Amino acid sequence: MSSVLETIDGGTRYLEKREIADARRNMQLLVAHQLKCSRMDLYVQFDRPLTETDLQPLRETLKLRGEGVPLQHLLGQVQFHHREFKTDARALIPRPETEELAEWLLSMDFPQHQSLLDMGCGSGVLGLTLAAERPDWQVTLADVAPAALALARENAAALAISNLHWCESDLFSAITGTFDGIVANLPYVPESERSSLSREVLHDPPLALFGGPDGLDVINRFIPDAFARLKPGGWLALEIGHDQASQVAEILRRCGFSQLEIKTDLSGVSRFPFGRRPH
Ligand code: GLN
Repeated sequence: MSSVLETIDGGTRYLEKREIADARRNMQLLVAHQLKCSRMDLYVQFDRPLTETDLQPLRETLKLRGEGVPLQHLLGQVQFHHREFKTDARALIPRPETEELAEWLLSMDFPQHQSLLDMGCGSGVLGLTLAAERPDWQVTLADVAPAALALARENAAALAISNLHWCESDLFSAITGTFDGIVANLPYVPESERSSLSREVLHDPPLALFGGPDGLDVINRFIPDAFARLKPGGWLALEIGHDQASQVAEILRRCGFSQLEIKTDLSGVSRFPFGRRPH
């Protein structure tokens, strides 16, 4: 038997040896998850003895974390704009950048009753957050992967969001109608970067990550069709890779988008292109 603190200390050393960043925070979150309490709750029970019933499953998750299984998969959830979303290997683990995109869009002054499309919704974080925060909007979530759509539907049900429509579609192949706004966090990582990605990122579905030799295959295919499916005056907002801004701006301009703007993320990377179909 060992105490909560001894378990955290031992697990931290174990993860440090395996070069896991933020080892202590990782271990605290794994222990808190096992004890079904918050990380802060651990501080008032450092001396609590842990029984085999808790230690046994904890050893297993610790081993997996040491092998590079993402913390988010082991916890089964992530926070995204004040809400809890289920995350697992069926879709990309939601990233903080995408949360920044959601928050930027929520800070904008759009008219009411927008029809929005989230293309490549994955776990649904982007479209579901916008649908939850703008209950007068109608949001269509689309993805080529049925497993990702199933996860997004589970998230929608858990969060009781209902202003939604669903579509299994390879980009626009099965999408009908036009939209006031389209958001997309499509796969944009160049194939050539595969070997330099962290062990954790390699647990994301490859389909959600890689966009061909320069990362832009899917985005290139997507932008002209997105233009065609926007109502006049409609807007498009994207998340792109760290060095793709000038290429993507060029594609957007070539396809007819105007009022182009590329917002930087918190690391200063030009990350979120935004444009409108002219009236
Ligand atoms: N930002 C993710 C990463 O670099 C990739 C997300 C994406 O391809 N849309 O790991």
